[in-house]
Amino acid sequence: MPSYTAPVKDMQFLLHDVLRVSAADTPGYGELEPDFTAAVLEEAGKISSEVLAPLNTVGDTEGCSLENGVVRTPVGFRDAFEQVKAGGWTALDLPEEFGGQNMPYILGTAVGEMFSGANQAFTMYHGLTHGAASAILAHGTDEQKATYLPRMASCDWTGTMNLTEPHCGTDLGLMRTRAEPQDDGSFAITGQKIFISSGEHDLAENIIHLVLARIPGGPEGIKGVSLFIVPKFLVGEDGSPGARNGVACGKIEHKMGIHGNATCVMNYDGARGWLLGEMHKGMRAMFTMMNEARIGVGMQGLAQAEVAYQNALIYARDRLQGRAVTGDENPDGPADPLIVHPDIRRSLMDQKSFVEGARAFLLWGSQMIDRSHRGGDAAAEGLISLLTPVIKGFLTDEGYDMTVQAQQVYGGHGYIEEWGMSQFTRDARIAMIYEGANGVQALDLVGRKLAQDGGKHVMAFFDMVKGFCKENAGVDGMAEFVEPIKKASKDLQAAGMFFMQNGMKNPNAALAGSYDFMHLFGHVCLGLMWGRMARASLDALAAGAGDPDFYNVKLATGHYYMTRRLPATAMHLARIETGAGPVMALKANQF
Ligand SMILES: Cc1cc2nc3c(=O)[nH]c(=O)nc-3n(C[C@H](O)[C@H](O)[C@H](O)COP(=O)(O)OP(=O)(O)OC[C@H]3O[C@@H](n4cnc5c(N)ncnc54)[C@H](O)[C@@H]3O)c2cc1C
Repeated sequence: MPSYTAPVKDMQFLLHDVLRVSAADTPGYGELEPDFTAAVLEEAGKISSEVLAPLNTVGDTEGCSLENGVVRTPVGFRDAFEQVKAGGWTALDLPEEFGGQNMPYILGTAVGEMFSGANQAFTMYHGLTHGAASAILAHGTDEQKATYLPRMASCDWTGTMNLTEPHCGTDLGLMRTRAEPQDDGSFAITGQKIFISSGEHDLAENIIHLVLARIPGGPEGIKGVSLFIVPKFLVGEDGSPGARNGVACGKIEHKMGIHGNATCVMNYDGARGWLLGEMHKGMRAMFTMMNEARIGVGMQGLAQAEVAYQNALIYARDRLQGRAVTGDENPDGPADPLIVHPDIRRSLMDQKSFVEGARAFLLWGSQMIDRSHRGGDAAAEGLISLLTPVIKGFLTDEGYDMTVQAQQVYGGHGYIEEWGMSQFTRDARIAMIYEGANGVQALDLVGRKLAQDGGKHVMAFFDMVKGFCKENAGVDGMAEFVEPIKKASKDLQAAGMFFMQNGMKNPNAALAGSYDFMHLFGHVCLGLMWGRMARASLDALAAGAGDPDFYNVKLATGHYYMTRRLPATAMHLARIETGAGPVMALKANQF
């Protein structure tokens, strides 16, 4: 059975050596002293490896079941959920007045990576609750906040997001679910939502559905969609769950992965709902949840890659096959371990350099969220808005690829279920699809985010990269990082220029290159992260601080990314510059 070890040391390095959180002027960051974050991360690591990881295979093999409208989660999930609740892990960054701990988002991200790496299907039950609570916090009335948030913070009540319908996923303007106004100010919600994660289960005493629906007479398309709070059990005057509402789970899906999370068809039959936020501005309110969820899904890509890598590494050290071409390394054994072979090393280095770079990217992104939410920093808000589709799309595509590479290290033993490696690949796959499929993330990036606010956020990104290169130009040991970052950033600028020059007269020229652009951007971000980690490592080595081996390994891993992964930017640019021609050459009926 696979194991999971929380990467506490790496997270501490990022928080303190690279991002220097406790010195940052973001409100709440002063508390993030190394001893404090270490204590939180160690504790989260313990629950991840001892409670959640052992249930990962159980969830996969047992799955959820539906009987008479009741969904049962796999054996052990209920106890584990109670432990997670009792530890206060479900509301780390929610405000204290609603039962949260008011910690910065960045710490929640680090803990979230651990929980997801240990058991993604399980973590989704409280992960989605957090997203729903954030939407209520941002858009709810005082009464709604008081009614729902404390119970959702504790996860006595969980939350869901209901967008998808059978005929509409990406194109939500086609939505049919109706919300009829009632005399008492509530709405009667009728329609069917599909693929609803955690839509029904036995972990909580109530489930608070956030449902997008159309109020009759409103504008056509996406502009006529509003968001509603629809509890499974209606909430009584005293705040306790009362009568059953008109919403029920009609079916749970059988699917490729995340078997431990119930993916439900939800039937709304005149269910009572209450408007959340403004009428017809449902997408705006839902986006609070979706933006958070997109960062969380990017994190899932990283988390599955991390746990798969950890196990591939153990296997590569253990499994004896063949001999090193440079001479036996295990002369007393029948063969050498897999890890002696350069091709296995390549795979492990791909995985390691991705995982550590992605973690830096995600924590840096979370720092921007804190700057924006806690510090009111508009530049940080603009930057994270630009980078959200990159975090979601790039980290989940690459994360999935890395789980496949980890599986490959096991040969045939990775393909059979006994070793548990196929679960990581199967679980990672969904992250490329939900919260907006990755192709749509690329469209959002190129079609909307690049030009947002007159292109000022992408310009700020380029300035930041330029600033980093300038600052580190003459620093001993940094040339091998600065030069590749400069080159990759130039590729990104050239791609942006190509879109500007060609996108207006031929929009297909931009859209045909959007997926490559998202990956090009992702590589530049990871390159920049490796540059920052390299600088922090060199500084620590020069100061004689900490464990020199840790920092030297960082430098070598970063060097690998610069030389073996970052050059992918040239290929992406070359593809982008071919425009729409090769992509659109065939007529639809010629395929
Ligand atoms: C396990 C699971 C859990 C889920 N959880 C939830 C949940 O909790 N709540 C919820 O509301 N939904 C949920 N979903 C639904 C999920 O978000 C959608 O499946 C996803 O958004 C894609 O919608 P679709 O499946 O209808 O695909 P479609 O919209 O039909 O898209 C199909 C393909 O076409 C591409 N495409 C579509 N439009 C365009 C375009 N204009 N340009 C280029 N490419 C395009 C997409 O990228 C995709 O690859 C879940 C799905 C699954 C499988």
